[in-house]
Amino acid sequence: MSTAALLSARIAPPTAAAARRRDGASLLTLNAGSSSIKFALFAADGPQLGIVGQIEGIGATAAFHAHSVDGRIDEHHAWQDGHGPIDHADALTWIIAWLAQKQPGLDVVAVGHRVVHGGLAYAAPVLIDDDVVNRLAQLEPLAPLHQPHNLAGVAAARAAFGRVPQVACFDTAFHRDHPFVNDTFALPRELYDAGVRRYGFHGLSYEYIALRLRESFPMHVAGRVLVAHLGNGASMCAMRDGRSVASTMGFSALDGLPMGTRCGQLDPGVLLYLMQHEGMRPEQIAELLYKRSGLKGLSGGLSHDMRTLEAAGTREADEAIDYFVFRIKREIGGLAAALEGLDAVVFTGGIGENSARIRARVLQGMAWLGIELDEARNRAGDTVISSTRSRVLCLRIPTDEEGMIARHTLEVAFEGARA
Ligand code: AMP
Repeated sequence: MSTAALLSARIAPPTAAAARRRDGASLLTLNAGSSSIKFALFAADGPQLGIVGQIEGIGATAAFHAHSVDGRIDEHHAWQDGHGPIDHADALTWIIAWLAQKQPGLDVVAVGHRVVHGGLAYAAPVLIDDDVVNRLAQLEPLAPLHQPHNLAGVAAARAAFGRVPQVACFDTAFHRDHPFVNDTFALPRELYDAGVRRYGFHGLSYEYIALRLRESFPMHVAGRVLVAHLGNGASMCAMRDGRSVASTMGFSALDGLPMGTRCGQLDPGVLLYLMQHEGMRPEQIAELLYKRSGLKGLSGGLSHDMRTLEAAGTREADEAIDYFVFRIKREIGGLAAALEGLDAVVFTGGIGENSARIRARVLQGMAWLGIELDEARNRAGDTVISSTRSRVLCLRIPTDEEGMIARHTLEVAFEGARA
């Protein structure tokens, strides 16, 4: 899509700006996964977060939980097998009815969606119309385990909210400007031209961290920064001047660091072996690499969850954590080389934000890079966790992907362009 077409696609209907200022106007963000929908409700003039929640187990044993930031609401609901929402549309209808009950006069004036893949066309959030939906559906082969579910969420919301402006926010967009050497594989050119590229993911999280750094650590964001997003999904991003230069995730959300159930970096020869000698079909390999590998696979099937592994104390659990830490340290070395030095390291994501033990282990033995941890600050979960002597500033910053989606949605739906 041309730049002109992209910009005109973002111009919201004339009534939209007024809608944002109506009393009680809300903005809804949705993050639809294979069998879940996460949602967050913001006041549209903020965006100020009000309520967050999710439905998991859609189509199977569904469960709902949600809470409000002011502590007024903390609700859990579990359906008996087969009695819960059967699909995303059903789940969204349930969520809307629940929200309307909790917030009488609920007036949703915009909906923002997390969409994993924006392909080559979308380097920024975009107002959703039929044409955008068709283009995003064409990208499903690039992210078969995420994109169709994201689009199921979009379809459900379009059916539920009619003409309310809806905005797609992409995990790939933050990386679209990264240099060719991080965009390509050493494969024949025609594959690059056909879209076999290193797209990079977790972009909404990295963008939020860059924003926070700009506000609170402007000197550092102008320099060379490594951000480690360590959660169920995990990746790292090297930034210069707040822009992505290199990342550990590539063509799919499988590459780079080991994750909860995903393998991370893998010799492609392993795939050939599995097909040629183990007779595995593509869908079996996909299930192995996405669902049975990573921390779960290495811990002998014990768990994908870092808290469980830290508490387990078995040899397999310890080795799974060792491998996770080792790969992060390796990537820090590689990405610091790509940046030709290092000014700051940021930890974020469920593990990065909450596990002082993992942060300490990752940063141990990094004096050669100018990193010195302050153990007490790290244990206390301070924002700055490096010592005053450390040449590299080390930070712990909770990410806020929903907040980033809300911000983009307001900009695109009501201001007609990105701020
Ligand atoms: P996320 O996908 O960002 O929600 O992160 C989920 C991961 O964070 C899981 O592996 C959790 O076990 C991990 N996590 C959350 N809280 C803690 C904690 N206090 N200590 C260690 N890991 C944690």
